[in-house]
Amino acid sequence: MTLTAPQLDEATFENPFVDELRGEISGNRGSRQVPGYCYARVAPTPVRDPKLLAWAEELGEFLGLAKPAERGAAVAILAGNILTPSMKPFAARYGGHQFGNWAGQLGDGRAISLGQVPAVDGSRWEIQLKGAGPTPFSRRADGRAVLRSSLREFLCSEAMHYLGVPTTRALSLVSTGDTVVRDMFYDGNAQGEPGAIVARVAPTFIRFGNFQIMLASGELDNLRALADYTIRHHYLELGAPSPEVYVRWFEEIARRTAVMVAHWMTVGFVHGVMNTDNMSILGLTIDYGPYGWLEPYDPDWTPNTTDFGSRRYAFGQQPRVAMWNLMALAQALTPLVADTQVLRPALDVYAETLATTQHALMLGKLGLSAQDDAKDRALTEALPPALAESGVDMTIFFRQLSHLAPALLAASGNEDALYGELLDKAAYPGEPAANLALLDWLHRYTLRLRQESASPEAIHEGMLRANPKYVLRNYLAQQAIEAAEAGDLSVLETLFKVLKTPFAEQPEHDELAAKRPDWASDKPGCATLSCSS
Ligand code: AMP
Ligand code: MG
Repeated sequence: MTLTAPQLDEATFENPFVDELRGEISGNRGSRQVPGYCYARVAPTPVRDPKLLAWAEELGEFLGLAKPAERGAAVAILAGNILTPSMKPFAARYGGHQFGNWAGQLGDGRAISLGQVPAVDGSRWEIQLKGAGPTPFSRRADGRAVLRSSLREFLCSEAMHYLGVPTTRALSLVSTGDTVVRDMFYDGNAQGEPGAIVARVAPTFIRFGNFQIMLASGELDNLRALADYTIRHHYLELGAPSPEVYVRWFEEIARRTAVMVAHWMTVGFVHGVMNTDNMSILGLTIDYGPYGWLEPYDPDWTPNTTDFGSRRYAFGQQPRVAMWNLMALAQALTPLVADTQVLRPALDVYAETLATTQHALMLGKLGLSAQDDAKDRALTEALPPALAESGVDMTIFFRQLSHLAPALLAASGNEDALYGELLDKAAYPGEPAANLALLDWLHRYTLRLRQESASPEAIHEGMLRANPKYVLRNYLAQQAIEAAEAGDLSVLETLFKVLKTPFAEQPEHDELAAKRPDWASDKPGCATLSCSS
């Protein structure tokens, strides 16, 4: 089908966001407040020499788009150098709470949406260029993105998709041929870096902050229009907008947000900047910046250097922060509903969905079918604190546990040796992996596992399907970046290919499943990331 699929330059774009909502149409790129509007029409600023670095083949096929050549019309579109007649490019206006403080208008300061295209199943997908140049929302920044952060966003959004985590997607990574100046460590040492643009794809990129800015500026007509638009296009199943439907809508947002966070907690993903402007109204992981993957299991860990003081967005805080963000959204939606109390039950839906989803995902990871709910919950909830004490590598622990399950089912008397083997494989040098809590937990788990009626092979295979061997370890992304900056795309290509089947053994790529090497434990980009991107 790839042979006959059209290229992006032949695609017809639809523009419901622009057609149905109030926007500022001057086209002026100057930084400014844009009160009264949901977006500003603005065209990307062309770049010097766009070249395709990576393309998400399966997503392209789903959108009915052929892989473009390294240079040409389609890549020019992906870089913002060409607009086709059906596009109505725009930057959305939103606000947000950053690190708990209201920041006023933020908006798409460097992302420009081109419109939406139909997928082969008839669903509609917005294509947004991140790093496409200044918009009215750029404030004092340049509207551009560097290769290292763009490569990280491209790889991670696709890796998350293949792990089954709700996420926005990425279609392409294009180098611009322009230099972008960044002070990566905020220490006065600004440097030129290669620029890049990611084409992100999602049903919509509307965030909690799009609604918050409307309340903050007293634009209740825009607030309602945006809510109705979101429901009509993305929550159609809820029916025509009404005060009751707004309540059910908020409940559904809460539910989806809980499912997303439950997935993060079970794969070890740390978003890093869970500001309300980085929370998707569809419950998708959005805005991959200083994110990271838990290697030693540590709930206090965050990769984001800006957050080292308060650790507001550390791994273990994510469930609570999402709740805080939902409360901020509830406040923004209050004018749409009869009284302020009716949105409260949705917060309980969030908490319940989070707990049940996390529990169900954890049962799957442990190869257990739901049995005695209270006892099983006690078992799954005892694991994270025991892991935290041990500091074992999260991904390796679960993957090796999967391999160990048949032996645990068969063993009689040599369990301690099996536990020792598991912890040796997952431990970091110098960390006392075997601790009483974890050994006690493993003992309880073994007894519980033996109550399962499925065959050892079925349990083993089920666990392998729930516990990825390959995640985008922070140091792996950094290696792909360093190679790409030196003109070698092979590291990126291999990593991308392996991350598409993260649950498959792929023994020829064992080295990509290795625990973080010593040199990476405090190297910038591997263990710490600034927001500079
Ligand atoms: P983030 O921390 O990536 O979520 O970004 C917060 C806000 O800053 C958003 O409004 C972004 O559009 C804006 N922003 C971040 N980087 C840039 C940039 N290089 N140029 C313009 N705006 C930016
Ligand atoms: Mg953002």
